Amino acid sequence: MRSFQQYINGQFEDASAQFESLDPSTGQPWALMPEARACDVNRAVEAAHRAFLAPEWAGMTASARGKLLLRLADLIAGNAQVLAELETRDTGKILRETRAQIAYVAEYYRYYAGLADKIEGAHLPIDKPDMEVWLRREPIGVVAAVVPWNSQLFLSAVKIGPALAAGCTMVLKASEEGPAPMLEFARIFDQAGFPKGVLNIVTGFGADCGSVLTSHPKVAHVAFTGGPETARHIVRNSAENLASTSLELGGKSPFIVFDDADLDSAANAQVSGIFAATGQSCVAGSRLLVQNSVKEAFLERLKAKAEACVIGRPDDMATEIGPLCTKRQRDMAQALIARSLEQGAKLVTGGKAPEGAGYYFPPTILDCSAARDAECVTREFFGPVLSVVGFDTEEEAIALANDTAFGLASGVFTRNLTRAHRMIRQIRAGIVWVNTYRAVSPMAPFGGHGLSGHGREGGLAAALDYTTVKTVWLRTSDDPIPDPFIMR
Ligand code: NAD
Repeated sequence: MRSFQQYINGQFEDASAQFESLDPSTGQPWALMPEARACDVNRAVEAAHRAFLAPEWAGMTASARGKLLLRLADLIAGNAQVLAELETRDTGKILRETRAQIAYVAEYYRYYAGLADKIEGAHLPIDKPDMEVWLRREPIGVVAAVVPWNSQLFLSAVKIGPALAAGCTMVLKASEEGPAPMLEFARIFDQAGFPKGVLNIVTGFGADCGSVLTSHPKVAHVAFTGGPETARHIVRNSAENLASTSLELGGKSPFIVFDDADLDSAANAQVSGIFAATGQSCVAGSRLLVQNSVKEAFLERLKAKAEACVIGRPDDMATEIGPLCTKRQRDMAQALIARSLEQGAKLVTGGKAPEGAGYYFPPTILDCSAARDAECVTREFFGPVLSVVGFDTEEEAIALANDTAFGLASGVFTRNLTRAHRMIRQIRAGIVWVNTYRAVSPMAPFGGHGLSGHGREGGLAAALDYTTVKTVWLRTSDDPIPDPFIMR
């Protein structure tokens, strides 16, 4: 069986223990992964801390950091195929998407490479004639990054890119569900020429690895992507080191279709919003709010598209829907659907996992118009399950859209320009897509509020999250300091 190693202080090494990683398309073990325990994590943080202070990194110019990130981007682009194949093998995400996504991940590193020497301080027009006062933007310190299994290369790029551009160092914990692409990424990172210890990659479980990392006294910032329940642990852990946190969590994003929308285009967007990546997307448009006058027509189109999706092996380029990453995910979806049906939801299509090996689950649509309080309307599935609620008026659509504890993404489909603007203003979410869905870019901030977390990834602001401001006061007068008992 293939075996992977962790990456600490520029060395590839075995961890304290190993665990088997399962291939989600068969449910069978296919590789042995390093399982980091407290001693491994402590060494990784120490290495990152040493690297943070060492002149090779601390004394490097921002432009030179940018050049290293650029080299990393080229290496990722050159190795996209092998990274894609590993991500597909270990997480079940279809090769069709991992290939395209990893090629685009290189663009994120290019963006942050370019940004490295544009993170500027400021000069203050201070109200004292004998002073020069300016602000230096300095790297915050050692960053602990924790990511979930879906789109790991992407979710880590939006952390590693800005953190290294800002001059931080990092220990990244890959998900225990499918860490192979991140451990292979370590090999590619190693070729880029960064000083030892700037980035360390481990994997392991929540209690022995994740908790130790995020509560470590030498960690200054925790960048977390995952579920809200785990985020509560992260925040509690950060009470130990008082690290700042950015939390990118889940969602129950509204996908709103008005009767003047291009229904064919909206149906395609809805497929991409909930069935692509087998629904394992934090921005999944998992609540379809559709105007009652077109509800039947829209559901008919959607049902046909859902039933036509090609379900199959994730490494087959014809496959559109691969397996879920874990059995737990599949069992959770099945149980949540059963409860929702008891609560009055109506099954439009799908709903039952097929017999046989692998964690497959079909595209599923539940009509909840007569059961708006059913669990499937409020809880995140992280699977290919769409809950549908009809509405009559724009006001009702907004009320339904905002009736959620999450606030990550949203979609509005209408040809009415003024209505689109009203919706953009009133929807409470970190992202509004109008007549499109699931579009991302390195320069576009990404994140939410409420149970969807706080902080933004992507864009300039994300790099500033990895900096701290130092205020410098320099006295320009040669006269003795006047009355020392008065604050100046
Ligand atoms: P999860 O919260 O179970 O796990 C995420 C990571 O946290 C894993 O690496 C896990 O090992 C680690 N972890 C678990 N317990 C920990 C602890 N006590 N201390 C420190 N680390 C710990 O998430 P998941 O189920 O793997 O992923 C799915 C979730 O991630 C969904 O809710 C999804 O919406 C969310 N997500 C959000 C985004 C976003 O950008 N907003 C993107 C992708 C996924």
